[in-house]
Amino acid sequence: MNLHEYQAKQILNSFGVNIQRGVVAKTPEEAVEAAKELTKETGTEWYVVKAQVHAGGRGKGGGVKLAKSLDEVKSIAGDIIGMNLVTPQTPPEGKKVHQVLIAEDVYYPGESEPEEYYMSVLLNRATGRNMIMYSTEGGMDIETVAEETPDKIFYEEIDPAVGIQGFQARKIAFNLGLSGNAFKEMVRFVFALYTAYTESDSSLFEINPVLKTSDNKIIAVDAKVTLDATALYRHKDYAAMRDIREENPIEVEAGEKGLNYVDLDGNVGCMVNGAGLAMATMDLIKQAGGEPANFLDVGGTADAERVEAAFNLILKDPNVKAILVNIFGGIVRCDRVAQGIVDAYKNMGSIDVPIIVRLQGTNADIAKKLIDESGLDVHSAIEFQEAADKVQEVLS
Ligand code: GDP
Ligand code: MN
Repeated sequence: MNLHEYQAKQILNSFGVNIQRGVVAKTPEEAVEAAKELTKETGTEWYVVKAQVHAGGRGKGGGVKLAKSLDEVKSIAGDIIGMNLVTPQTPPEGKKVHQVLIAEDVYYPGESEPEEYYMSVLLNRATGRNMIMYSTEGGMDIETVAEETPDKIFYEEIDPAVGIQGFQARKIAFNLGLSGNAFKEMVRFVFALYTAYTESDSSLFEINPVLKTSDNKIIAVDAKVTLDATALYRHKDYAAMRDIREENPIEVEAGEKGLNYVDLDGNVGCMVNGAGLAMATMDLIKQAGGEPANFLDVGGTADAERVEAAFNLILKDPNVKAILVNIFGGIVRCDRVAQGIVDAYKNMGSIDVPIIVRLQGTNADIAKKLIDESGLDVHSAIEFQEAADKVQEVLS
């Protein structure tokens, strides 16, 4: 589950990670109050108004702006709240901004220039260990750094059973070129960040930029946190941070109905039982010259009600030009699924896209007959390849 920047920073702060302070606001008036509060707390006279949406690259899209007075806070917040923010990470139509974070300006001048670093904590699936990835090249896309100057990205692997060791935190501070107070602060920062990552059951932390201020403090200016959704039962307070306005509405609805649905960019809707078969089906669609429009696992009990719910979800995606149903009748009998499809089809009145149904397993032949004799515009298949050929046929 993804969080807003302000929520991610709350979690970091609760584990002692130094953050750029801020107060969230839903209206320009609230933004001014937030700024006043922030000045009382931190003494700051300049502010950064930051759009709160689940997407990075906000600065590039005009969603992060510096305000040098309360009047500017008000007018900038007025511009950003309600805007459709388009960044390299949002869908092309952008994301609507419902709230802004009014943050203290931390790029103030002083004895040295402020410097931006990159740091993330994540799981290295290949080694089964946690990993801190960091770079001196902060503030820009880490993908660009990885492409152009891969030698400027460092990795520190941490054995989860032992936890982070002092020498590892010091190595990170050293590789970032720090000394003196900034070095000490970075060591503390890394420890607190790693603790926050493990204790919050997160699967990703990305702090870009981590800032060395002109007076040598180390703070998190931005924060992306992805929580492990399966661990949310242990963190009721984090679970309450969910903002479903930021999520794909079809995926939200599928979740409520107990269906495993992931939205994809293609044109062939898939309805499959079992995740493995669903993956194989998506491969097959690609081989047939199509692109899967979704991943959908309807699970073991593919009865009429579930099949209808699944059809409804798939058809909400306007890009769908054909639907491939690929069900293996192991626990569930194929004829029951076929009946479910026929019933769902009749219930829904008409479905405007061609449907290819491949049912294999117990009573597959009876199922095929049921579909063929239903009089509906449904193509049946028993073999996997046969289904693929039919997908190709209806797409061309
Ligand atoms: P992102 O664009 O979504 O990654 O949002 P960030 O929180 O990383 O902010 C984008 C950029 O805004 C940063 O890289 C900084 O250059 C700038 N920025 C953020 N906070 C401040 C601040 O306190 N003062 C100034 N002057 N710039 C800031
Ligand atoms: Mn950032």
